[in-house]
Amino acid sequence: MTNFIDVAIIGAGPAGMAAAVDAENNRLNFVLFENNKSGWYAEYSINQHYTVDGYLGAYNTTGTELVESFKKHLDSKGISITPKKVEAVKKHEDNFVISCDDGSMYIARFLVIASGTTPKKLYIENYDKFFGKYIFNFVCKEDLDYEGKNVVVLGGRNSGATTAIFLANNTSANVTLIERDSTLNATRKYLERLAKTRVKAITSATVYRINGDDKLTSVDMVVGNKSLTIPCDYLFCSIGMKPNLKYLNVLEIATDSLGRIVVDPLTMESSIPNVYAIGDINQLLPKQVSNATANGKTAIYFINKKI
Ligand SMILES: Cc1cc2nc3c(=O)[nH]c(=O)nc-3n(C[C@H](O)[C@H](O)[C@H](O)COP(=O)(O)OP(=O)(O)OC[C@H]3O[C@@H](n4cnc5c(N)ncnc54)[C@H](O)[C@@H]3O)c2cc1C
Repeated sequence: MTNFIDVAIIGAGPAGMAAAVDAENNRLNFVLFENNKSGWYAEYSINQHYTVDGYLGAYNTTGTELVESFKKHLDSKGISITPKKVEAVKKHEDNFVISCDDGSMYIARFLVIASGTTPKKLYIENYDKFFGKYIFNFVCKEDLDYEGKNVVVLGGRNSGATTAIFLANNTSANVTLIERDSTLNATRKYLERLAKTRVKAITSATVYRINGDDKLTSVDMVVGNKSLTIPCDYLFCSIGMKPNLKYLNVLEIATDSLGRIVVDPLTMESSIPNVYAIGDINQLLPKQVSNATANGKTAIYFINKKI
């Protein structure tokens, strides 16, 4: 069955949920797609440093509490989330044809791309084999026994720094933070917190091998021009994000050098008329919940003017 709608909002993170609330306020005919737990990325990432930064009014609020309040807002408006993965989008005359993982199709006049980013993986042997069991992206998601364990965190920006701080403050693990650059590039606040922990940082280091048969045992790296092997029971990989836009392949949408969708900063419209991109998936900075939700409002405002 094909469903005809005005607006397809793809992704129910903060950006997509904010767009949905405004779409409902404007009585638009829309669908909000989500293939995972809505708001999961904001929840897990914010929980790594306990409470949300920079979202006015939400002081002392955890990632879980913030996302719960977003979902309650949607519930209060009777907005339901369509639990489907969007697998492909193509243009047909003036409309967009959206194909989902359950075989269903939607035809929409406007697209709001809010599918965010995914943590990058390390393209080295054993990564896939151990991912989910000994290798993770987010520290709050799993329930591991850290007693006497060696944990390596890869990536010295904010994600890696907050992961290392969380592990040092909440577990008995022996934590090593590895950064490829010569310095850690996290913001000052996290560097200050890191300095108060027992985390050992190794900079100018590139991990090139993950060792172990049934379980992870160690990682090999080059530090400067020397080789180093350190024991490792769990590895947290925080080496950056890549935009989730594979399903847009055939649209040939303009992106920047980081693969983020380029939008008009006034309207959020992309290089393709009637396709809007909001939140972490567009080129605008900073990458924060407040920006994501504001982008959602802006996109719906301009779509509503065209309807
Ligand atoms: C460690 C860390 C800490 C952070 N701390 C803060 C903080 O304190 N304060 C702050 O403001 N910001 C913080 N952020 C940033 C914040 O989490 C993001 O800016 C925000 O989540 C972006 O929202 P979004 O809706 O654009 O994307 P996302 O939250 O990534 O949501 C995108 C959604 O789209 C879904 N999706 C993807 N592809 C498809 C598809 N094909 N079909 C259907 N659904 C799909 C995903 O499952 C996901 O739920 C932090 C980020 C990190 C990494």
